[in-house]
Amino acid sequence: MRHWIVIALVAGSAVATVRHAMGHRHTIVIPALLIPALLLGWQEWGFRADQDEFSAVATTIADRDVRIECQRFTGALLDPTAEAGYVAFNADGTPTDTGRLERDACNDLRDYLHGDKADPSIEQVVAVQVLTHESYHLAGIANEAETECLAIQRLDDVAGWLGASPDQARSMAVRYYDEVYPRMPTAYRSGECVDLGEMDVAPDDPTWP
Ligand SMILES: [Zn+2]
Repeated sequence: MRHWIVIALVAGSAVATVRHAMGHRHTIVIPALLIPALLLGWQEWGFRADQDEFSAVATTIADRDVRIECQRFTGALLDPTAEAGYVAFNADGTPTDTGRLERDACNDLRDYLHGDKADPSIEQVVAVQVLTHESYHLAGIANEAETECLAIQRLDDVAGWLGASPDQARSMAVRYYDEVYPRMPTAYRSGECVDLGEMDVAPDDPTWP
Protein backbone atom coordinates (compact mmCIF):
# COMPACT_ATOMS: atom_id res chain seq x y z
CA MET A 1 0.00 0.00 0.00
CA ARG A 2 2.66 2.49 1.11
CA HIS A 3 4.81 1.87 -1.97
CA TRP A 4 1.82 2.49 -4.25
CA ILE A 5 1.26 5.86 -2.56
CA VAL A 6 4.96 6.66 -3.06
CA ILE A 7 4.72 5.72 -6.76
CA ALA A 8 1.55 7.82 -7.20
CA LEU A 9 3.14 10.85 -5.50
CA VAL A 10 6.34 10.56 -7.55
CA ALA A 11 4.31 10.17 -10.76
CA GLY A 12 2.20 13.20 -9.81
CA SER A 13 5.27 15.33 -9.14
CA ALA A 14 6.81 14.17 -12.45
CA VAL A 15 3.68 15.29 -14.30
CA ALA A 16 3.71 18.61 -12.42
CA THR A 17 7.44 19.09 -13.24
CA VAL A 18 6.83 18.50 -16.96
CA ARG A 19 3.87 20.89 -16.93
CA HIS A 20 6.00 23.39 -14.98
CA ALA A 21 8.74 23.16 -17.63
CA MET A 22 6.09 23.70 -20.33
CA GLY A 23 5.10 26.99 -18.73
CA HIS A 24 2.33 26.08 -16.26
CA ARG A 25 3.23 27.35 -12.78
CA HIS A 26 3.46 24.39 -10.33
CA THR A 27 5.93 25.88 -7.83
CA ILE A 28 3.89 24.75 -4.79
CA VAL A 29 2.50 21.48 -6.19
CA ILE A 30 5.88 19.86 -6.89
CA PRO A 31 7.30 19.99 -3.34
CA ALA A 32 3.83 19.27 -1.91
CA LEU A 33 3.94 15.91 -3.74
CA LEU A 34 7.67 15.18 -3.47
CA ILE A 35 8.15 15.76 0.27
CA PRO A 36 5.55 13.19 1.40
CA ALA A 37 6.87 10.82 -1.30
CA LEU A 38 10.39 11.05 0.16
CA LEU A 39 9.10 10.65 3.72
CA LEU A 40 6.94 7.61 2.92
CA GLY A 41 9.67 6.12 0.73
CA TRP A 42 12.16 6.43 3.57
CA GLN A 43 9.70 4.77 5.99
CA GLU A 44 9.05 1.94 3.54
CA TRP A 45 12.78 1.38 3.03
CA GLY A 46 13.32 1.15 6.83
CA PHE A 47 10.37 -1.23 7.21
CA ARG A 48 11.76 -3.57 4.55
CA ALA A 49 15.34 -3.37 5.87
CA ASP A 50 14.14 -4.40 9.36
CA GLN A 51 12.05 -7.26 7.94
CA ASP A 52 15.17 -8.48 6.11
CA GLU A 53 17.12 -8.42 9.36
CA PHE A 54 14.42 -10.45 11.18
CA SER A 55 14.28 -12.85 8.23
CA ALA A 56 18.03 -13.43 8.52
CA VAL A 57 17.56 -14.38 12.21
CA ALA A 58 14.76 -16.83 11.31
CA THR A 59 16.78 -18.27 8.42
CA THR A 60 19.71 -18.99 10.76
CA ILE A 61 17.51 -20.77 13.33
CA ALA A 62 15.36 -22.63 10.78
CA ASP A 63 18.47 -23.55 8.79
CA ARG A 64 16.62 -22.89 5.53
CA ASP A 65 15.56 -19.85 3.53
CA VAL A 66 12.54 -18.32 5.31
CA ARG A 67 10.89 -14.90 5.58
CA ILE A 68 9.54 -12.85 8.45
CA GLU A 69 6.74 -10.47 7.47
CA CYS A 70 5.52 -7.68 9.69
CA GLN A 71 1.83 -6.94 9.63
CA ARG A 72 1.04 -3.59 8.06
CA PHE A 73 -1.35 -0.95 9.34
CA THR A 74 -4.22 -1.99 7.07
CA GLY A 75 -3.77 -5.66 8.07
CA ALA A 76 -3.81 -4.78 11.77
CA LEU A 77 -7.18 -3.04 11.37
CA LEU A 78 -8.68 -6.23 9.92
CA ASP A 79 -6.98 -8.70 12.27
CA PRO A 80 -9.40 -10.11 14.87
CA THR A 81 -6.80 -12.38 16.56
CA ALA A 82 -4.56 -11.53 19.48
CA GLU A 83 -1.66 -13.74 18.39
CA ALA A 84 1.70 -11.96 18.40
CA GLY A 85 3.15 -14.25 15.74
CA TYR A 86 2.02 -16.98 13.41
CA VAL A 87 3.43 -19.66 11.13
CA ALA A 88 1.02 -21.70 8.99
CA PHE A 89 1.71 -25.42 8.61
CA ASN A 90 0.91 -27.50 5.52
CA ALA A 91 -1.41 -30.52 5.66
CA ASP A 92 1.63 -32.86 5.73
CA GLY A 93 2.91 -31.21 8.93
CA THR A 94 5.71 -29.19 7.35
CA PRO A 95 5.85 -25.44 8.00
CA THR A 96 5.30 -22.83 5.29
CA ASP A 97 8.19 -20.45 4.52
CA THR A 98 6.84 -17.27 6.11
CA GLY A 99 6.46 -16.25 9.74
CA ARG A 100 4.11 -13.36 10.42
CA LEU A 101 4.51 -10.88 13.25
CA GLU A 102 1.52 -8.91 14.43
CA ARG A 103 1.89 -5.13 14.14
CA ASP A 104 2.49 -4.28 17.82
CA ALA A 105 5.02 -7.10 18.26
CA CYS A 106 6.83 -5.99 15.14
CA ASN A 107 6.91 -2.35 16.24
CA ASP A 108 8.30 -3.39 19.65
CA LEU A 109 10.93 -5.51 17.89
CA ARG A 110 11.87 -2.62 15.59
CA ASP A 111 12.11 -0.28 18.60
CA TYR A 112 14.41 -2.81 20.25
CA LEU A 113 16.54 -3.18 17.12
CA HIS A 114 17.07 0.58 16.89
CA GLY A 115 17.29 1.21 20.67
CA ASP A 116 20.41 1.19 22.86
CA LYS A 117 19.51 -2.25 24.41
CA ALA A 118 20.48 -0.99 27.90
CA ASP A 119 17.01 -1.10 29.43
CA PRO A 120 14.48 -2.76 27.09
CA SER A 121 10.79 -2.69 28.02
CA ILE A 122 9.18 -6.03 28.85
CA GLU A 123 7.21 -5.66 25.58
CA GLN A 124 10.53 -5.51 23.70
CA VAL A 125 11.79 -8.61 25.55
CA VAL A 126 8.58 -10.42 24.57
CA ALA A 127 8.93 -9.26 20.94
CA VAL A 128 12.43 -10.77 20.69
CA GLN A 129 11.03 -14.01 22.11
CA VAL A 130 8.15 -13.96 19.58
CA LEU A 131 10.64 -13.69 16.70
CA THR A 132 12.67 -16.58 18.18
CA HIS A 133 9.54 -18.68 18.80
CA GLU A 134 8.23 -18.24 15.23
CA SER A 135 11.73 -19.09 13.93
CA TYR A 136 11.49 -22.49 15.67
CA HIS A 137 8.08 -23.07 14.08
CA LEU A 138 9.75 -22.31 10.73
CA ALA A 139 12.38 -24.91 11.69
CA GLY A 140 9.53 -27.45 11.76
CA ILE A 141 8.65 -27.64 15.47
CA ALA A 142 4.86 -27.57 15.87
CA ASN A 143 4.32 -28.32 19.57
CA GLU A 144 3.91 -25.00 21.41
CA ALA A 145 5.59 -25.99 24.70
CA GLU A 146 8.62 -27.41 22.88
CA THR A 147 8.82 -24.41 20.54
CA GLU A 148 8.61 -21.98 23.45
CA CYS A 149 11.26 -23.82 25.50
CA LEU A 150 13.72 -24.06 22.59
CA ALA A 151 13.18 -20.35 21.92
CA ILE A 152 13.75 -19.38 25.55
CA GLN A 153 17.17 -21.06 25.39
CA ARG A 154 17.97 -19.16 22.21
CA LEU A 155 16.63 -15.74 23.22
CA ASP A 156 20.10 -14.53 24.27
CA ASP A 157 21.59 -15.50 20.90
CA VAL A 158 18.89 -13.65 19.00
CA ALA A 159 19.23 -10.55 21.20
CA GLY A 160 22.98 -10.67 20.49
CA TRP A 161 22.40 -10.87 16.72
CA LEU A 162 20.15 -7.82 17.02
CA GLY A 163 22.96 -5.93 18.76
CA ALA A 164 22.80 -6.69 22.51
CA SER A 165 25.98 -7.24 24.51
CA PRO A 166 26.37 -10.71 26.11
CA ASP A 167 25.27 -9.35 29.52
CA GLN A 168 22.28 -7.52 28.04
CA ALA A 169 21.28 -10.64 26.09
CA ARG A 170 21.56 -12.89 29.17
CA SER A 171 19.48 -10.58 31.31
CA MET A 172 16.72 -10.55 28.66
CA ALA A 173 16.52 -14.36 28.66
CA VAL A 174 16.37 -14.40 32.48
CA ARG A 175 13.69 -11.69 32.55
CA TYR A 176 11.55 -13.55 30.03
CA TYR A 177 11.88 -16.85 31.88
CA ASP A 178 11.17 -15.27 35.31
CA GLU A 179 8.53 -12.70 34.42
CA VAL A 180 6.70 -13.83 31.28
CA TYR A 181 7.04 -17.60 30.92
CA PRO A 182 5.17 -18.44 34.18
CA ARG A 183 2.17 -16.43 32.89
CA MET A 184 2.01 -18.07 29.48
CA PRO A 185 -1.01 -20.29 28.67
CA THR A 186 -0.62 -23.92 29.79
CA ALA A 187 -0.07 -25.19 26.24
CA TYR A 188 3.11 -23.08 26.05
CA ARG A 189 4.65 -24.34 29.29
CA SER A 190 6.26 -27.55 30.48
CA GLY A 191 7.64 -28.79 33.78
CA GLU A 192 10.57 -30.11 31.72
CA CYS A 193 11.53 -26.58 30.60
CA VAL A 194 13.99 -26.21 33.50
CA ASP A 195 17.74 -26.59 33.95
CA LEU A 196 18.52 -30.33 33.47
CA GLY A 197 14.90 -30.99 32.42
CA GLU A 198 14.08 -33.03 29.30
CA MET A 199 13.88 -29.83 27.27
CA ASP A 200 17.30 -28.51 28.35
CA VAL A 201 19.25 -28.54 25.08
CA ALA A 202 22.60 -28.12 26.89
CA PRO A 203 22.41 -30.13 30.14
CA ASP A 204 26.17 -29.85 30.64
CA ASP A 205 25.91 -26.06 30.64
CA PRO A 206 24.82 -24.72 34.06
CA THR A 207 23.61 -21.47 32.44
CA TRP A 208 19.80 -21.35 32.28
CA PRO A 209 17.84 -20.55 30.28
ZN1 LIG B 1 3.73 -20.96 18.57
